[in-house]
Amino acid sequence: MQNQKFSLQHKSFTGYLPNKQAIMLTVNLRSFKQIIRYNKRRMKRFLTMLEKRPPRGLDNLILEADKSIWGKTDCLHCANCCKTMSPTYTKKDVQRISKHLGMSAKSFRQKWLFRDKGGDWLNASQPCQFLNEDTNMCNIYDVRPRDCAGFPHHTKKKMVEYIHVYKQNIEHCPATYRVVELLKEKLNHK
Ligand code: SF4
Ligand code: SF4
Repeated sequence: MQNQKFSLQHKSFTGYLPNKQAIMLTVNLRSFKQIIRYNKRRMKRFLTMLEKRPPRGLDNLILEADKSIWGKTDCLHCANCCKTMSPTYTKKDVQRISKHLGMSAKSFRQKWLFRDKGGDWLNASQPCQFLNEDTNMCNIYDVRPRDCAGFPHHTKKKMVEYIHVYKQNIEHCPATYRVVELLKEKLNHK
């Protein structure tokens, strides 16, 4: 199975349904999948446009959009990143988590990870083995991979250098989808 990498934890979002009426949603993954199916191409075209012709002040717009969504986005109603993607584990992540679990790094990797073609260590199965599927909480939250702690990385870098990650993550993360949707609204992009 080819895992999608994260490249996680935060909280309902407002999405455009096919009839283009904005409604408030708690993170409802079934609705999110419908919204994505309908809007994916349009959103990706918009991201490509941003990549080719970034508007002035793009990074500030992203910061504002990111700030405004978290009050309406409940990750504990979602956890779609932990269910459908994999963090990339650094050597330090493996050392820290395996120590926390009382295992050697080697046994940890053997039990749960695999190395992809690019040499990155990823979860071998989905959902993530550390996700509590009853509560959507992370069983290793305090020592989770850095990648998880930073996901969805909206403000990590200059956005224009990170568009490929947005293109991947809008299909998995309702918060990223909403950030891109807000940008479209702010830039009056149809
Ligand atoms: S380690 Fe925790 S936060 Fe990271 S993917 Fe697994 S369950 Fe989610
Ligand atoms: S996919 Fe996005 S909204 Fe859902 S739990 Fe992960 S970070 Fe939160």
